Amino acid sequence: MRKYKIVVLALALLLMFTACTKPVNNEVENAKNEETIEKDDNKKVEKINVVASFYPVYDFTKKIGGDKVDVVNLTQTGSAHGYEPSIDDMKKIVDADLVVINGGGFESWVDSVKSNNPKLDIVDMSKDVDLIESDAIHAHDEHEHEDDHDHEEHEDDHDEHEGHNHGKYDPHTWLSLDNAGKMLETIKNKLSEKDPENKEYYQANYDTIKEKFEALDDKYEDWFEKHKGKSFVVPHKAFGYSAKDYDLKQIGIEGINSDTEPTLTRIGEIVELMKENKLNTVFYEYGKSDKVANTIAAELGGNVKPISTLEVIGQEDVDKGNDYLSLMEMNLQNILDSFEGK
Ligand SMILES: [Zn+2]
Repeated sequence: MRKYKIVVLALALLLMFTACTKPVNNEVENAKNEETIEKDDNKKVEKINVVASFYPVYDFTKKIGGDKVDVVNLTQTGSAHGYEPSIDDMKKIVDADLVVINGGGFESWVDSVKSNNPKLDIVDMSKDVDLIESDAIHAHDEHEHEDDHDHEEHEDDHDEHEGHNHGKYDPHTWLSLDNAGKMLETIKNKLSEKDPENKEYYQANYDTIKEKFEALDDKYEDWFEKHKGKSFVVPHKAFGYSAKDYDLKQIGIEGINSDTEPTLTRIGEIVELMKENKLNTVFYEYGKSDKVANTIAAELGGNVKPISTLEVIGQEDVDKGNDYLSLMEMNLQNILDSFEGK
């Protein structure tokens, strides 16, 4: 009896939504179809909910995913190296359809998140990149001081003022256009796997962006050809992959993982290294203080220029329309200008 009433009520409601002239059976059928269409529409507008650990992987995901993805950047302020997810961030991570990380040891928090949430879909953007061992970066810096007698001693000091232990690899993979191309491919494949209906859309975005990355890379490869082996002085050793791409050398005022201020001893060492290498440009982190760079440059009558690690991008840059590619171009152009005395 009760069931019968419910059926009658349901049919009555259906009749209210549909034309009255057709037989009841058709009305039920039509209503079902409408419901399916509605569901399909909802599915079509549903975007992939992505959480990205910091700016470069956020930018790459947005460029490939376009309007099919909603991407949140976890590190919009502060230091990307020291980032740990807050409780709010953890909620975003756990609820995401996809978590995009740089990999190469950059996200020290990711292992514990992974072990607590084994079903989480996490993509390591550097999985196809040849990683540089961080010891090689340190050894390289030692090479810069070959004729320095107290060298053992300051290598110890240096590790200490780096603040914390570095990982096995240099994590700054994104600061190479060649690596960035591999990272774009990784995210393109991942989005296509999650959302095969839009595979062609992701492929088309990838093709357009990859071409721009390659064009910029080729241009600077030609321009750096006559400057092979030259050095540039950067705030921290983030540019190992850029240097490798064009056969250049970076001299880091600070180490791989640090963005603290250098000691006076280190400043003195940098001044000496610059004299030895006949350098007169000191780079400072784009968007941050140029005080340390100016102090060093003043010792040599040199100049300062900005260089971006792209680790954290300010709102000002977003508003100006800057992105990974425009800031990489600024970096490469400024390095080139420093070699050409501009
Ligand atoms: Zn860094």
